[in-house]
Amino acid sequence: MMKCPNCKKISPDEDSKCDCGYLFPTIYSSPVIVKDIEMKFFSMMWFMVKWAFAAIPAMIIIAIIVAFVMMLLGGFTTSLIDS
Ligand SMILES: [Zn+2]
Repeated sequence: MMKCPNCKKISPDEDSKCDCGYLFPTIYSSPVIVKDIEMKFFSMMWFMVKWAFAAIPAMIIIAIIVAFVMMLLGGFTTSLIDS
């Protein structure tokens, strides 16, 4: 039970707000918020791990494309020099 310092009304613990509009300093809701942030952080970390794994084949493809372009450019410039 919580007593409102504003209107002195007794409110049940689960109430975060008094009938008069006073917001109780909620000790009950804060760990929930922390847990929620932790969950978001964990899911974000997991998403980043999955993304990193998904990026590996893409990186290989990009490396192949870059190597191919470099090879083409290299071949092109050497053929220019040769002629
Ligand atoms: Zn009140």
